[in-house]
Amino acid sequence: MTTVGISAARAALASCHDCHLVVRAPAHHVAATCPRCGAAIHGRKPNSLVRTWALLITAIILYVPANLMPIMTVTSLGNTQSDTIISGVIHLLHHGMWPLALLVFFASVVVPMLKLIALVFLLVSVQGRWQWRPVDRTRLYRITELVGRWSMVDIYVVTILVALVKLGELATIEARAGAVFFGAVVVVTIVAAESFDPRLIWDEVGESRE
Ligand SMILES: [Zn+2]
Repeated sequence: MTTVGISAARAALASCHDCHLVVRAPAHHVAATCPRCGAAIHGRKPNSLVRTWALLITAIILYVPANLMPIMTVTSLGNTQSDTIISGVIHLLHHGMWPLALLVFFASVVVPMLKLIALVFLLVSVQGRWQWRPVDRTRLYRITELVGRWSMVDIYVVTILVALVKLGELATIEARAGAVFFGAVVVVTIVAAESFDPRLIWDEVGESRE
């Protein structure tokens, strides 16, 4: 089964967020700085849960207009048409480009939603002091963090593909509000994942083994 070593917190040690120097953990509510680089030292990211919840709820709210509002308007030979992410996907399907349609659908609709669900799950599990599968939950966090870096590509993919499909002799393409909301969802979700402290998953587990 899982073997649990002595955590740094148990050994009264903490690592610097910036240069990762291991130092003696400061007492509660005592401001301490890293002797090497001068950054503030915290055993755990301060207010991690509250901050992550706030960012996550913001991202969930932004997710709605990101999917309902048009991300772009294409004017071609006097024809103007606005597309949401979903209608862009449907255009791709109509043109027989179903592998691309699936790619865009998963990258722009499914993956951002799964990321939000994963973070909500991690927050609930830490607040509920679950001891259930800490290794898998840590892995889930790692995947969520990793996927975030690639999310920004989606918006370019959908915009370029839809434009290519529709492009006539003369066409103008304008980004619309939906694209801004979509970008905001991606950025806010990355910051939310960053503000979550995965060591919180292990705090309960460590205590139960003693
Ligand atoms: Zn440091």
